[in-house]
Amino acid sequence: MARHKELPWLTQVMMEWAKMNVIEYKGFATKNRVVCLQCGQSFSPELVSRKKAVCPHCSTKINVEVSRKTTDKQTYYTAYAQIVGEYQVIRYFVHYCYFNAKHEANINCWEVTQLWIKENGKYEIVSLNHYLTPYCETWTGDFEIRTENRVYYSYYTGLKYDIYTEDFHPKSQIKGIYKKYGINTKLAGLTFLQAIKAIPSAPRLETLLKCKQYNLLNLFTNQRLTDRYWPAVKICIRNKYKVKDSKIWLDYVDLLLYFNKDIHNAKYVCPANLKKEHDRLVKKKRDIQRKQAAERKRQQAQEWETQFKALKGHLIGIAFQEDNLTIKTLDSVQEYLEEGDALHHCIFTNEYFLKKESICLSARMKGEPVETIELSLKDMKVVQCHGKFNQPSKHHDKIIEAVNKNASIFRKLKRRAKQQLQTA
Ligand SMILES: [Zn+2]
Repeated sequence: MARHKELPWLTQVMMEWAKMNVIEYKGFATKNRVVCLQCGQSFSPELVSRKKAVCPHCSTKINVEVSRKTTDKQTYYTAYAQIVGEYQVIRYFVHYCYFNAKHEANINCWEVTQLWIKENGKYEIVSLNHYLTPYCETWTGDFEIRTENRVYYSYYTGLKYDIYTEDFHPKSQIKGIYKKYGINTKLAGLTFLQAIKAIPSAPRLETLLKCKQYNLLNLFTNQRLTDRYWPAVKICIRNKYKVKDSKIWLDYVDLLLYFNKDIHNAKYVCPANLKKEHDRLVKKKRDIQRKQAAERKRQQAQEWETQFKALKGHLIGIAFQEDNLTIKTLDSVQEYLEEGDALHHCIFTNEYFLKKESICLSARMKGEPVETIELSLKDMKVVQCHGKFNQPSKHHDKIIEAVNKNASIFRKLKRRAKQQLQTA
């Protein structure tokens, strides 16, 4: 590609234009002064209104930030599109801006990359070498044809020479074949290369671009805007409703679908206050989910209670006394739950109430659980006996002794239930 040398030198033009139209000038303000980073001079904070000011020294319009900083560095990319013979050429420029409160801003400009695009979509990159890592970015070397566009790091893949900028010089020329698809210098989130690759084969993308639904365009290119949402998108377009926060809007459409609302209806799809409607539906859905969870829990508890009664209904309602200790059976699933909560063990979570081979008893003093006992129904022996956090209490031995002494009650109850079952 020798022709890149024929192109007019534009660096000065781009630099002047960017200085006036692209680069943001800042002032850093403290209580006592504002430093203009364009000329390096200071002025009174009284001249600031709504975070904006015009520097009395250099007449630059500046955005004022509260900061003790006195330096700043910014990088901008701009582009110039031109038609050269059969080629659409996109020329990219980088502007490095060094601001320092001690002197005038230092702004420079380089042309770094050119895309030479043929009518058939084939293109060549004529560029300086773009050295790109997560920590550092530089342009070095000479203009050469570059073939390796893709760049990989551990967490990032990107394109070295496919530059995104919203700042095309106003004298840019775009070929008619692209304009036909709505591709011009306003591509909101797409690079020129992405646009010409994707849009001609994606009518929906073309529609979004032409209708200036730039926020949705981004979702589309991230493949999040699937068929599911397209009816709603069409309603937005028809009603000239601009989606400003596409993520919330998409979420909102999901909620509408959850509540079986008609997403062909502008009343739902185009709310005046999206955030408010979104939050309202989120809350409504959460309430429903909470109710569903509570209902599931209630049903589960009921089921357990029935199973428990069938398994151990003949072995409950028993209590015996040993000095100042009362030892009683746990008579419902609810009692297992409360016992587990009181002594911080797993009697409830591990569903001891459904164990066929044993029953549980609670040893209590003045009504408070002291230890929980699991009694085997096979040999009527204590399987385990634990107090708070599975530790033995000081009444441990006495409790075991008392349970063993009274275990025959359960043997009798078991035998009687068996006999009843046989005679029935
Ligand atoms: Zn100034």
